[in-house]
Amino acid sequence: MSQTLKAVRGTRDLLPPETDLWNRIEATARQVFARYNFGEIRTPIFEDTSLFARSVGEETDIVSKEMYSWEDRARAQSEKAQSLTLRPENTAGVVRAYIEHKLGERGQLQKLYYIGPQFRRERPQKGRYRQFWQIGAEVIGPPSSGSESPLRDAEVLEMLATLLDELGITGWTLELNSIGSAADRAHYNETLRAALAPLAPKMCTDCQRRAVTNPLRVLDCKVPEDQPVIATLPVIADSLSEDAKAHFAAVLAALDAAQVPYKLNHRLVRGLDYYTRTTFEFTHGGLGAQNALLGGGRYDGLSEALGGPKAPGIGFAMGLDRLVLTLQAAAQSSPLEKADAYIAPLGENLNAAALTLARELRRAGLRVELGDGSFRLKKSFEFAERAARRIVILGDDELESGNLTVKDFASGVQTKVPRKELVARLRS
Ligand code: AMP
Repeated sequence: MSQTLKAVRGTRDLLPPETDLWNRIEATARQVFARYNFGEIRTPIFEDTSLFARSVGEETDIVSKEMYSWEDRARAQSEKAQSLTLRPENTAGVVRAYIEHKLGERGQLQKLYYIGPQFRRERPQKGRYRQFWQIGAEVIGPPSSGSESPLRDAEVLEMLATLLDELGITGWTLELNSIGSAADRAHYNETLRAALAPLAPKMCTDCQRRAVTNPLRVLDCKVPEDQPVIATLPVIADSLSEDAKAHFAAVLAALDAAQVPYKLNHRLVRGLDYYTRTTFEFTHGGLGAQNALLGGGRYDGLSEALGGPKAPGIGFAMGLDRLVLTLQAAAQSSPLEKADAYIAPLGENLNAAALTLARELRRAGLRVELGDGSFRLKKSFEFAERAARRIVILGDDELESGNLTVKDFASGVQTKVPRKELVARLRS
């Protein structure tokens, strides 16, 4: 017997009725983004590998061990093979598109959102998949468009608080930090390197490596035994320049004024190299170990690092899979939404007439399930009761008289309804 095929580890099928919830979340996000005057961008699902190496950073977990990359063979002798990668995140693609299409020359701030799958070869667990979905947005533009203003940071954070509230997600926490300019971060990295030198040998092997290659990443370590050591390390707030401190203070002041609650977390440095100044995460207690609903931050030098013009920006990515988990946990179970009517033809000779009736009702905007004339009446009733609020019986009598038999399952009442009145009755 041949082996049955299954979805690849870390990927999954999304099925109804759960997909209704996915669609509802996406629709709410689109509405909220529209109110903040964002437009949608769709970038390719794969990009040149060097895009991620140059933006996310060679030393990050994502680039060093989690990317799905392959050599795309040259098709002609004159062509070179190209290393391609399934996108592990979407900011790099958006900034590449910003540069490629010279969006900065449009003068205003570019406010772009995206919804789509991302790919990382991580160890699968609840809330962590190898193909997962992100809803994200970026605010980016030349400095003259106001892209560096702390108001942009505060506006993005206020929008996220509004979006989570409108999705019905309660109990979120906004954790906030500033990691300063690239120079501040380099300075802090050296401070950490010195502090870690005597401590690293007692830490996990990842931290021993990070202590040399990229000390900032030590703060991301989740190994419980390392936490007391990490708690003694110098904090980044002490390495910030006056500029970065003032920028962060202005972000906090705007959030205070708008009454968006937050918690400062000086260990929040985030897993991607391109961040500068404001970094943030929204967490949720109900998610367990993978408790980040979303993360983001400012990336003032990213465009230049990719060969583009100066274009400060700020953005975020939220995990759609995790939003779904949070809402499912809160709602217990979501009942299957029922169709308005189930049409039961009594005999196969009535199938064509049943299709015509279904077409009429569906074109009138009703949600209709169509049975089959080969079913016995009892079976039609069983199927109908599971799928719809009412059954419409179509027999030879009904077809001739133009009066259809309709049974409402909630009330148990069965009546004859003239065809002309059927749409109105089924809508009620
Ligand atoms: P990041 O791009 O790592 O900052 O992630 C942003 C958000 O995407 C996280 O807060 C999660 O909600 C979500 N996310 C990241 N990686 C995964 C994954 N492997 N599976 C599911 N969601 C993820």
